[in-house]
Parts: sequence; structure tokens; C-alpha cells
Amino acid sequence: MIENKALLEVLETVKARDPHEPEFIQAVTEVLETLEPVIDRRPDLVEAGVLERFVEPERIISFRVPWVDDAGKTRVNRGYRVQFNSAIGPYKGGLRFHPSVNLSILKFLGFEQVLKNSLTTLPMGGGKGGSDFDPKGKSDGEVMRFCQSFMNELYRHIGLDRDVPAGDIGVGAREVGYLFGQYKRLQNLYGGVFTGKGLTYGGSLARREATGYGLCYFTEEMLAANGKTLAGKTVLVSGSGNVAIYAAEKAMTMGAKVVAMSDSSGFIHDPNGVDLAVIKEIKEVRRGRIKEYVEAHPDATYTEGSRGIWGIPCDVALPAATQNEIDGESARLLAKNGCFCVSEGANMPSTPEAIEVYFENKMLYGPAKAANAGGVSVSGLEMSQNALHLSWSFEEVDERLRAIMKQIFAACDAAAKEYSTPGNYMAGANIAGFLKVAEAMKAQGCV
Ligand code: NDP
Repeated sequence: MIENKALLEVLETVKARDPHEPEFIQAVTEVLETLEPVIDRRPDLVEAGVLERFVEPERIISFRVPWVDDAGKTRVNRGYRVQFNSAIGPYKGGLRFHPSVNLSILKFLGFEQVLKNSLTTLPMGGGKGGSDFDPKGKSDGEVMRFCQSFMNELYRHIGLDRDVPAGDIGVGAREVGYLFGQYKRLQNLYGGVFTGKGLTYGGSLARREATGYGLCYFTEEMLAANGKTLAGKTVLVSGSGNVAIYAAEKAMTMGAKVVAMSDSSGFIHDPNGVDLAVIKEIKEVRRGRIKEYVEAHPDATYTEGSRGIWGIPCDVALPAATQNEIDGESARLLAKNGCFCVSEGANMPSTPEAIEVYFENKMLYGPAKAANAGGVSVSGLEMSQNALHLSWSFEEVDERLRAIMKQIFAACDAAAKEYSTPGNYMAGANIAGFLKVAEAMKAQGCV
């Protein structure tokens, strides 16, 4: 519970202003609660009005996205870009295409992105955008026409030194290609205005792998600081998208055994260790469903309902699907079955109740904004390569990613020790991320 008066007032204002935005309120509450020891010591930040501005996006753009489906019918979706904070660099953050997208979700993601980007050590502000469009079940032509229409509006708000989008749920290589192509056509500019681009047109090696690999590098640092390692551990990875697949791949390389993965319909359990080549073929090549896995591995089981994955005994859980996918009940199951570490690949996958369970059970907890910052870090490296007109090798990018994740862990660890409870990496991530942005906001005056 917050006691600091300034923090309480800011939180009450957010709740009163946007009572219909539960995810945004959840994200802001978690961060403000952990900032108390900093704000107690830094009244100058309150004096400079940093807090009020920190929780309010600089700009929100909302627009109509009309497109024509394969049957010739006009469809209309809603597009958004939340330009949250540009104190330390141009807005940077992904686009999400999913039917659940609304302003509450994009504001929570944009808010988290500000802190995450600050932790990367790279000069990037925070933003997020997307649409309630569902690419699932659409033809390539429909996805292309939607992306082109989306960009017909978005292009005027983005740019190399203004706002650099990337992918997120539902926005992979195909969507980024169509979006970038339309931006280039409209602007007559071949700028590095998107990250996550294809390798033939300015993308970075290891960007596809970055979030999942980075998650394992962060997790390994956290385990090492507590006398443990991923090698030999049993691991659950939820989701089977970009983050999940490469988290599973790196965890296996590090000697862990990944025994389960999921999609939004259900989960597979393969006690022999998941065969990632089969998952990649289903998900990356055929855009199929995870239940098809058991056709190739009849010894594995498929269960409907994605939450059931948290009932499988494991040492380490890597949620990599979506927000609030682990609730209090799932967290208690994990703890009961011996899980001692949860490290987050997805954004805000744990509910506040789940996080309480982690702390009550003295589990190691790697919060998303630190643990999954590898993706945006390599996006930053993609921007550097574009600016230098150079391409670094996979090994070079991977090496830099590893070094960044190490630094991020060290920053969370140090801030937790200085301001909060040692080992509380959630507080450490929030505090370290906040301080850099807050200093920049104060220095730039009331803007
Ligand atoms: P993808 O679209 O590639 O994959 C998402 C995966 O999650 C799919 O397997 C999807 O299944 C599954 N999923 C979606 N909703 C649910 C649900 N309710 N229950 C179980 N599974 C579900 O997205 P990403 O891998 O890119 O993103 C995953 C998470 O990681 C998101 O929270 C995103 O914000 C975060 N993230 C992504 C980064 C990146 O670089 N891509 C960077 C940092 C964070 P289905 O196929 O059935 O929809």
C-alpha cells in the first residue's frame, strides 16, 4: 500500500480519469507502489511535476482503418499509436494486431515500454500501437491491404527521429514487410523507420531470436546471482509465438528441458522434452495450431485450455504468451509443484495476486520490463546498423545482446539493494528505469 502523499494523489488521478482502463491502472499501480522509497528521498522530482507527467501519454492517435476483404466487402478496424514518453529518445515500441486491442492495453504496454527502454541503456523513448484487426484466418492479400491502409494514416506520425515502431503479437515478419513497404512508398524515403525488418531490407540478424534469447540470458544472470543455473532444469514456456519459440530454443541450448508449450487454444506436454523443429514447422511455416504436435509425437498429450499448463511440475516457468496469463491460483499451483523461478517473456503476464504468491514463496521473479527487454535492445542495435549502413554478424549482435541483458540485471539488482529489498528485481527494474527518465524529464522542464 502506498503511503507517500504525492504518489497516492497521482494514482487516484489515474484511477478517476480512466476507470475503464484496468490493465493501465494495474501497470501504473505496480510501478508507483515500488517507487515509494525513491520518491521519499527525491522530493525534487515531485516538485518538478515529474510524476503527473510520467503517467500521462504525451500523445494518443486513434484512427479508422478501412480495408476490402477477399469477397469485396469493406471492413473497418480501429488503429492507434500511443506516444507515451520521449524524454530519453524517440518513441519506440511495437504494434499489436489482436481483437483484444484497446486503449487500456496499449497504454499499459506503452507505459511499461518507457521503463523497459530506459533499462536497455540505449536512447529510446516509449510508445506502443496497434489495432483490433485479427490477422488469424486472413489471406496474405487481406493482411497486405489492411497493413497498407493502417500505414496510410500512421506514416505521418512516425519517423527515424520521431517514432520507430516494431512488431508484437500478430505483427511478425510478414506484417512488418507490408507496413514498411507502404511507408517507403508514401514517404519516398528508405529510412530505418521500422525495426524487425526482413534481412534483405535492413533487418538485423538475431532480432527474431532477441526477446527469447534475451529472456534466457537475463534468467541465467538472476539464477547465477542466487547460486543456481538453467542447466538440468525442467522448464514450462507458454505461447508458441516469436518470444516463446526462441526462449525455448535458448533454454534448451543452455541445458534445460522444456516440457510444455501452448497457444490460445490449449497446451502440449511432452515429458521427453519438446521437439522444437515440429513446433516451428507448425507455427512458423504453416501458421497451424499447437494441438497438431501430437500427430508427430503421439507420446505427448494435448489439453484444451491454455491455463492448464501451469499445473505441470517444473523448476522454472517462462510465461511468453500474453498479459495476466498467470493468476493467483496458477501461481499457487506452480509454487506447490516446486517451481522456484518465474521469468517473464510476455508483457505483464502475472496478475498482482500471482506476484504476491511469488514473493510469499520466496521464488525468484524476473519482471517483464527487464527480462524481455532483449527484443527492443536488438531493435536499437538494428537502428544503429541502419544509421551506420552496416550489418553486424549474428554472433556480434548476440554478444551485444548478452552484454545488455547482463547490464540490465546488474541495474535491477543494484537498485533493489539501494532502495528496496535485495532480490526484489521488480522494484529494482521499476526504480532503475524510472530514475533515468525522471532525471531527463526534470532537466527538460515542464514539457
Ligand atoms: P506472437 O503473436 O508471435 O505469439 C503470441 C503467442 O501467444 C501465440 O502462440 C498465441 O497463440 C499465444 N497466446 C495469445 N493469447 C494467449 C492466451 N490468452 N493464452 C495462451 N496463449 C496465448 O507474439 P510474441 O511472441 O511477439 O509476443 C508474446 C508476448 O511477448 C506479448 O506479451 C508481447 O507483448 C511480448 N513481447 C514481445 C516482444 C517481441 O519482440 N516480439 C518483445 C517484448 C515483449 P495463438 O496462436 O493461438 O494466438
